[in-house]
Amino acid sequence: MYTKKELDEQFPTETFCALPWMHLSTRPNGHMRVCCTANASGVAVNAESTNKTKSDAGILKRDDGKPANLATTGLLESWNNEYMKGVRRQMLAGEKPASCIKCFKEEEAGHRSKRQWETRKWIQDAGGIDEIIRGTQEDGTVDPRIRYIDLRLGSKCQLACVMCSPHDSSGWVKEHKQIHPHLVNPKLKQTMQWEKETGKLAWTGGSYNWHKKSPTFWDELYSQLPHLRQLYWAGGESLIMDEHYTLLEKIIEDGLAKDIELRYNSNGLEWREDLFDLWKEFRNVIFHFSIDDIEQRNHFIRYPSPWPEVVEQIKKLDNYPHGNLELTTAWTCIALNIYYLPEFIKWKVQEGFKLLNRWPSGAGLFSCHLAYWPPQLNVKVLPEWFKKDVRQKCEDELFPWLEKNWKDCTGVTERQVSYDTWRQSEYGIPRMQGLLNFMDADDWSTRLPETAEWCYTVADKRFIDFNETFPDYDWLEWYK
Ligand code: SF4
Repeated sequence: MYTKKELDEQFPTETFCALPWMHLSTRPNGHMRVCCTANASGVAVNAESTNKTKSDAGILKRDDGKPANLATTGLLESWNNEYMKGVRRQMLAGEKPASCIKCFKEEEAGHRSKRQWETRKWIQDAGGIDEIIRGTQEDGTVDPRIRYIDLRLGSKCQLACVMCSPHDSSGWVKEHKQIHPHLVNPKLKQTMQWEKETGKLAWTGGSYNWHKKSPTFWDELYSQLPHLRQLYWAGGESLIMDEHYTLLEKIIEDGLAKDIELRYNSNGLEWREDLFDLWKEFRNVIFHFSIDDIEQRNHFIRYPSPWPEVVEQIKKLDNYPHGNLELTTAWTCIALNIYYLPEFIKWKVQEGFKLLNRWPSGAGLFSCHLAYWPPQLNVKVLPEWFKKDVRQKCEDELFPWLEKNWKDCTGVTERQVSYDTWRQSEYGIPRMQGLLNFMDADDWSTRLPETAEWCYTVADKRFIDFNETFPDYDWLEWYK
């Protein structure tokens, strides 16, 4: 094991990242990306945006400038195309590739970037930097040795979450067609456009069935399995995809599972009966369970998610018998659930889970991330007076409650964690304070008419009474 200092000393330059040497990331439409964060380098989300990306930064380009899409372009052919070679050359020369701006901006702001933690992780895992960059030619060409794959096999998903869209979920397609033509607010209408209807998907050669169309993808992927160390499933909903199970079985048959970590972002609502039998063969499994609130509010946000089923599924995972599972929540912070964070955290602590965010994971509480998109549901959209209420509810109610009940956080007592260690964990109260600070950092409340139109339209379409489900948000009606 290298120390942190020894790992940092192995970075060949100050702009080096290991991922372009060992990682493949796909979008549900088959576009290849340098990594998921590289794709977000083109994200232009601010109080005015109606397009998520101002550029396709981070999407691998073919030599004719169009996106390299796995439906039409070979995986290994793209591995050493001009775009990828250019990124590697720039990194080895200490330059900052345009595709990676998001990481460098985060570092300038004093945060630890994906570039930094991923590179440390993979140097450690490979047993040294030489194993990652060996054989790199002067022009940036390197033999493919793919250790880490973020695989999104289309958009098949049974849910239509309120912050999602048909770009990422087939569950949205039918409702999108019914709702979108009737949206009135021009900004909202533009924000919620679908690439299949604007013609962008066809122009770029993308397809939500790219994995069924590609003649070479599966053979090329299988040839890389001996190098693979992490297989990440993050979209649509992998547990209802036949290909997910076929790939796991193939890895097991080839005797490679013990070297591979599986990772999921999943709604966890259904899976094949033998899932746990497959998982037990792997080195380990990390499962991020998508859950954003409790009871009817979660059902509205992650529609349709009947609450008793959600709880039943989490408990099945929480009782996983084979010992190689790390289970966390994936709580997406949006305008509709931040007010109810205290209720969610109390539920999590009082349910007595054994595995779900067991210390040190999420400080024994939860794991979360911010939804920047769509803008009408970004927490920054809330009016100032309501943001004050949100903060007060956390500071006056939730944090004191946690100070009193900290020993009940999952795994804290069992692992004999001291109060100071628990209190100082950056994933506990400080993380929640970070969410509040993000919310307060900008005022996007001019977009509240979009929030109101979106929430009431979606609720009406689903025969849900919005004001009854979110009684503390009934003031949204003023903006209709
Ligand atoms: S530097 Fe950042 S954006 Fe670029 S490949 Fe690495 S992790 Fe991805």
